[in-house]
Amino acid sequence: MQNTKFVNSLVGEKKYLIDYANLKQNLFLYQSNIFNKNEVYNFFKKKHFGIPALFPVKLKIFDYSNSDQYFIKGNFLLKNIYHTKNDKYKPFKDYVRFGNEFSTFVKPKKRYLNLVNKIINFNKYSINEIKNIKKKFKNVCAFQTRNIPHHGHEKILDYLLSKYDHVVINPLIGPKKKGDIKFDMLAKIYKFLLREKYNKKVSYIPFISNMFYAGPQEAVHHANLRYTLGFRNFVIGRDHAGSENLYTPHQAYNYISKLQTHLNIKVEKVLGSYYCKKCEDVVIKTSCSHKTLINISGTEFRNCLKNKKYFKYADFNLQKFIFGLKQKIFIN
Ligand SMILES: [Zn+2]
Repeated sequence: MQNTKFVNSLVGEKKYLIDYANLKQNLFLYQSNIFNKNEVYNFFKKKHFGIPALFPVKLKIFDYSNSDQYFIKGNFLLKNIYHTKNDKYKPFKDYVRFGNEFSTFVKPKKRYLNLVNKIINFNKYSINEIKNIKKKFKNVCAFQTRNIPHHGHEKILDYLLSKYDHVVINPLIGPKKKGDIKFDMLAKIYKFLLREKYNKKVSYIPFISNMFYAGPQEAVHHANLRYTLGFRNFVIGRDHAGSENLYTPHQAYNYISKLQTHLNIKVEKVLGSYYCKKCEDVVIKTSCSHKTLINISGTEFRNCLKNKKYFKYADFNLQKFIFGLKQKIFIN
C-alpha cells in the first residue's frame, strides 16, 4: 500500500497541484498543455472531451511570469461542466472559489515541486499495478467508488465478475467534501473486504485526481482518465459523481452512452442493487421481475456506522472491523 499521508495536505489552492501533476503526466486525454481562452472554447465543443484543467490567476502556489490571463463566464462553466442553471450548487461554487479568471501558463513555486513529484510518482505506481493486472487477466473492468461497500456494492462486484476476469476498485483520491469518507480509511476497509471475500479477483488501486461532482460531464472525464490509466472497460453506476441530488440516477449513464462511439473505453452500465422481499436477497434491478424492491440506503448505512450500530445489508465482519478502527472515517 502506498503512503497517502501527503494527500491530506492537498487542500485549498493546493488542489491545483493535482491538476498540474495530472497534466504533466499526460493523464488528460484531450489536454496536453495549459489552455488559452480559445482552447477552452474549442474543448467544450466536443462533449466527449470531458472536463479541462483550468488554472486560476493569483494563487500563491504558482509562478505566473510570462503568462496571459483570460476570463470565462461562470454561466458558461455552469452549463458546460455542471449541466445546470443552479449556481447555488456547492461543487460549482467550489470550482470558481478562486475566481473565473484563468492563466495561460503556470509553474509551481519551488517549494511545491516535491508535492507535484509525489503525486506523479503515486500515479505512476498505480499505472504500473494496472499494467501488471492486465498481464495476468484478459478482461479487466475499473470501478469507481467513494462509499463504504454494503451488500449492494458486493452484488455489483459479483455481477461484474460474471462478465470480467478481474475488477479494479479504482477510486479518485484527493481533496474531498465534508461527509465523504477519508480515502485512507476507504483503502483499509476495501482491503479487508477483498481479503475476506474476493481473493485476488478484485484489486484496490487508487489514483490522485480532482473530483468536481459534475455528474454526467464528469463521468466522461472519468472514462477518459481510466483510458489513459490503461483500462478498456469502466463502470458507470447510479448517480455517478453527483451531489445534492442535482442529477437523476441514470443521467450520467444516459449521457455517456450517447457518446460511446467517440470514447476509447467501453462503458458498462450497472443499475442499482436492491433488497428484494420476494427473492429475500440483494438483487441487481433487472435481475428479478418483482416489484418488492427496497433501496439499500447509503445514508442509513453511514448513520449506522457513525453510531456504531450494525446495518443489516452489509457484511458483519467488515462492520466489526470498521468499529475496531481507532481513526475517524468521515471528513468533518
Ligand atoms: Zn425478486
